[in-house]
Amino acid sequence: MMELYTQTLNELSLGLEHGDFTSVELTQALLARIAAHNEKLNAFVTITSDEALAAAERADDARAKGRAGILNGLPIVHKDIFCTRGIKTSCGSRMLDNFISPYDATVVEKLAAAGAVVLGKANMDEFAMGSSNETSFYGAVKNPWDLSCSPGGSSGGSSAAVAARFTPAATGTDTGGSIRQPAALTGTVGIKPTYGRVSRYGMVAFASSLDQAGVITRTAEDAARLLGVMAGFDERDSTSIDQAVPDYTAEIGKSIKGLRVGIVRQHFDAGLDEQTGVRVKEAIAVLESMGATAIEVNLPNIDLSVPTYYVVAPAECSSNLSRFDGVRFGYRAENPEDLLDLYCRSRGEGFGDEVKRRIMTGAYVLSAGYYDAYYLKAQQVRALIADDFKKAFADVDVIAGPTVPAPAFKLGDKVDDPIQMYLNDIYTIGANLAGLPAISIPCGFVNELPVGLHLVGAHFAEASLLRAAHQYQQQTDFHRACPEGFQ
Ligand code: GLN
Repeated sequence: MMELYTQTLNELSLGLEHGDFTSVELTQALLARIAAHNEKLNAFVTITSDEALAAAERADDARAKGRAGILNGLPIVHKDIFCTRGIKTSCGSRMLDNFISPYDATVVEKLAAAGAVVLGKANMDEFAMGSSNETSFYGAVKNPWDLSCSPGGSSGGSSAAVAARFTPAATGTDTGGSIRQPAALTGTVGIKPTYGRVSRYGMVAFASSLDQAGVITRTAEDAARLLGVMAGFDERDSTSIDQAVPDYTAEIGKSIKGLRVGIVRQHFDAGLDEQTGVRVKEAIAVLESMGATAIEVNLPNIDLSVPTYYVVAPAECSSNLSRFDGVRFGYRAENPEDLLDLYCRSRGEGFGDEVKRRIMTGAYVLSAGYYDAYYLKAQQVRALIADDFKKAFADVDVIAGPTVPAPAFKLGDKVDDPIQMYLNDIYTIGANLAGLPAISIPCGFVNELPVGLHLVGAHFAEASLLRAAHQYQQQTDFHRACPEGFQ
């Protein structure tokens, strides 16, 4: 039998069904692997061994009684931004280092109801602000492909855990690229669904009009299975959309013959590493060889997406993070002199530098004198960008390009240069501003580091993205490559 940790969710599901192993055995095997290798990566904030084994026992019991859900006994890791009842939810911050949520996020609840077993909570950039995982209060996560490199961020613990075969799947969140960018840098699959497709209830808010939950896996097939469980209307999230969830797993089997693939010139401009561009073009050629047609499309305002995002996202974060005041929950400074001192020192000591930078930028762009010049203007540009995509999707089904401008960068390289760090999301942010679904899939290597192919679709076109990704993975085996030292 193939080692359990090497198997995908789909393979593990078949093994459990056939009785080749139990969920308890599977959970024990993965926990042992995490115990042996996590120190090298720092992928977890919390490892939930006891809870996982108890859940695995319940899953085995449910199967024995003929009541196995679609994810019965299968492992998952949650980004530590999802509230988990009774288990610490830190959001990568000192501010929430002592926070135990009294309830589960909808995503957590739905996956648990389908039988999933939570192995632990993944490390992440503080409050999901970052592209390298270096802003985490718990320290940087390392990339299994090269331990001196970043696994991306902010869902870097999730991406590293999947790439290192600690788990076949992990949840993530994506506000500007935080699922897709780490997926690209670790050779995994990451999907950010349409805004409103998956509930944000119980997901610690960063920028509410951009935040969306999704998954990181090794195959599109596994992503389809998980998304089918996670997606759907939730009355507890006011922006959740009430639309039927397609059977993604059934959809991915269909051919991509006739798929119209849009190519945007700016995605291949000077900012792109040359070899990365070559790998991405090869991937597009593979899609063409399967019957897709490449068509040039124009997104005239896409170059404005990074500056637009860095007005909108900080503005929303400055508002969302005002709830962390040292009074209601989280970190509280010791011996405050008065109420103001309590607020100031709790926030001053509880938040890290990047979070403070965002809050200050956000408060500035929302201030009376600058609101029109920055915030309002950014909202207008956001509408133009969304409109560009809308026009493009009249002619094409998906837009293909690189996920990230270059393969994984060294830890420490960009941390003192926020602009360079922000530019890592140059190709991913547009989808968030327009609320569109997008996926990153491994499409080769440059200097032995993974490269990601990015596909963006029209609203609710997750099935088309997953299908293109799945069909591509039937023709290629980049997703099977395993980093040295983690085989
Ligand atoms: N890297 C981007 C940022 O720092 C996106 C983060 C995210 O998607 N959560 O804001």
